[in-house]
Amino acid sequence: MKIKEIRTRVFRWRGKITPLPPHFCTNPMDLLELPQASMGTFTFHALAFGRKGIAMVAISALDIALWDLLGKSARQPVFRLLGGRTKPRIPVYASRLYASESNELAKEAKRYKDEGFRAMKLRFGWGPVDGAEGMQRNVNLVRTVREAVGDGIDVMADAYMGWTLDYAKRMLPLLEPFHLRWLEEPVIPDDIQGYAELKSYGEIPIAGGEHEFTLSGFRDLLQARAVDYIQFDTNRVGGITQARKIAALAEAHAIPVIPHAGQMHNYHVVMASFNSPMAEYFPIVDVEVGNELFWYLFAGESKAKDGYIDLADDVPGFGLTIDEAKLRDFEILE
Ligand SMILES: [Mg+2]
Repeated sequence: MKIKEIRTRVFRWRGKITPLPPHFCTNPMDLLELPQASMGTFTFHALAFGRKGIAMVAISALDIALWDLLGKSARQPVFRLLGGRTKPRIPVYASRLYASESNELAKEAKRYKDEGFRAMKLRFGWGPVDGAEGMQRNVNLVRTVREAVGDGIDVMADAYMGWTLDYAKRMLPLLEPFHLRWLEEPVIPDDIQGYAELKSYGEIPIAGGEHEFTLSGFRDLLQARAVDYIQFDTNRVGGITQARKIAALAEAHAIPVIPHAGQMHNYHVVMASFNSPMAEYFPIVDVEVGNELFWYLFAGESKAKDGYIDLADDVPGFGLTIDEAKLRDFEILE
């Protein structure tokens, strides 16, 4: 059986109502202001349902939109509002290399190298249920990419929360000969102890954080010395308002920030952060269902050239507009 369609219905109350207290969670600008009646603010109500997960993602979208508006009204790119340029351009790593046949994978890796990327990341294809044979197949993916691009390129590998602590501890020694720059999300995000254990277990640096939320979540990760790289995504952690604080906290712990997924809302934070040496970059491919927004709805997204992206000094906000031509390929469902 397969779920083919999901329907949602919104029910609106039309009976008698008690009026809301004044200033009851109505003004998203309250993100930055806590007037005396703090129980009535957006921030306060976020505490009930929005500390992690989908509600914080929605809050992030609002916050990012407000920073865009702020940039546009000040006629400045957002990275200038955050303190300005810290690097001439942003080095980006090619992030794709899904598990596939060795010759295909090697070809793809070489293509990124030829395009000028100095770093790239592959995805593992197997986990604990695939046993020792799956472990060897995972190792072969890393070996294939390393041999295709040589030692002068950074290679990273992503387990996307798919392993267990036990499995990761058995994989790490097998991966050491390939000197990965990092192993990403080896265990579930809540297993902070597991992260910390793996970080001190072997030679391979451990990266994570794309499924963590808010300053508080990253304080816990950093205090536990659980990761070597922080990979927050501004559109999950609470927007620019939270991302800039997390970036500062990470800097104080000497843990670099290399955000998840790239995109303008992250690139502007990277550009304004000394402690952010690189960003992720998804090479453009044909539409993947679920990922359309990465490439197809907005015009103005920076494209990688010779392994770098740049942000314009004279384009206000995040520099994005809705791509009206592409919009015709989207069906809007109410
Ligand atoms: Mg990842």
